[in-house]
Order: sequence, then C-alpha cells, then structure tokens
Amino acid sequence: MSENIANNINETRHRIDIIAQKSDRKLHEITLIAVSKGQPACRIDAALEAGQKVYGENRVQEAQMHWSHRRNLYDNLELHLIGPLQTNKVDLAVDLFDIIQTVDRPKLVDSLIKSFKKKNVSRNCFVQINTGEEDQKAGIWPEDSDGFISYCRSAGLPLTGLMCIPPINEPVAPHFALLKQIGERNNIRLFSMGMSADFEIAVSLGATHVRVGTGIFGRRENL
Ligand SMILES: *Cc1c(COP(=O)(O)O)cnc(C)c1O
Repeated sequence: MSENIANNINETRHRIDIIAQKSDRKLHEITLIAVSKGQPACRIDAALEAGQKVYGENRVQEAQMHWSHRRNLYDNLELHLIGPLQTNKVDLAVDLFDIIQTVDRPKLVDSLIKSFKKKNVSRNCFVQINTGEEDQKAGIWPEDSDGFISYCRSAGLPLTGLMCIPPINEPVAPHFALLKQIGERNNIRLFSMGMSADFEIAVSLGATHVRVGTGIFGRRENL
C-alpha cells in the first residue's frame, strides 16, 4: 500500500508535468494538494513518507484527528481547508490550517478577520465560486463574485485565490474557464480547480492548485 501511494504521487506529478509543459505552464506554479479526507492513518503516513507536503481536508474535526499531531512530526507541511466552514469552527480552523479555500459569505469573512486579530496571525484565503449556480452547493455565484471579492478586500482579508467544484456530470472546462476569468478581472492569480478525474484539464486551463484524493490514496474508507 505505501509503495502504491508513493507511486500514485509520482505518477500524478508526472502527469501534471506533462500537461504543464504542453500548456506552456511553469511546473513550480502548480501545487498538488493530496486530499486526505476519509483516508486511514496508514495511507496518510505513507504519503508523508513519500515526501508529500501539501494536504487538503474538508472537515475541521476530521482534519484535527489527521493532522494535530502529525503537524509537529514533519517540517513544512501545508494544510488547506477545502470544505465548508461554519463560523463556530473558525478559531479551530485558523489554528490548524494554513490556507482556507472556502470563504463564501460576509459573515465568515468577518469571523476570520476577528480570529486573525485575536490570535495575531494571518491565513491566506481563497473565495469559493459556485460556478454551476447549484442551490445545494456552497460558494458565491458568478454574478456576485466581483462584489464579494471587493467586500473581502475592504475587510482586510488576505485574499489570494479562487476555488470551484464544478457540477458532477457536466463538462468541467467551462467552469474552470469561468473561474479563471473571474480571477483575471479581479487581479487574483491562484486557482484551485481540478480533482482526480479532471486535474489535467484544470492545469491546461490555468489551475495553480489541484486537489487529488482518490487518485493518490485510493478509494475513501471512512466518510
Ligand atoms: C474530496 C474532494 C476532492 C478530492 O476528490 P477526488 O475525486 O478524490 O480527487 C477535491 N476537492 C474537494 C473540495 C473535495 O471535497
């Protein structure tokens, strides 16, 4: 299993490299986030042993179980929150994560700023855009994105990127292109888009962060 995971990481990196070269992208611009949600400890340890430094989790509590102690065992880990954040978990999230990718409402912006001030820290944030305008999905709708980005900036949030999760069963390319377009007109340069099934398309369309779970770790066990 641990060999598999090391191989999967290498293979994923290799595929990113190939598509980056084809798309005239620079390799160092693209960060592979290994999404460890729902994965057993032994697989996470195998990824760490393979040298993987950047991880994504979508729930604060599970992330604490996975990462509170491992954070202290490895240098230079970078942890991204890629799932919805409730305001009552903001302090915990700020303690644990380096980057919050799912900022999606003014109340959350205000809570994050308050937490940063209280703890005297800062965390780079991404705004989640609901590119598919799906009612059940988190994220700012495209038409509201410019206004919300302005709100984040005037509130003093360190906003560095955008992320999206396209609807299932739809071609992803238009969603990735839309995210890029919103970023470019707002002077935002980081784009978290693409998962196991579509990270190559995402890289070809400008992803700077791809979020790969099952492609690295295999099928999730405990959900
Ligand atoms: C689970 C998850 C992923 C990883 O999905 P895979 O298909 O396993 O690569 C990526 N992004 C988000 C937001 C997720 O919740």
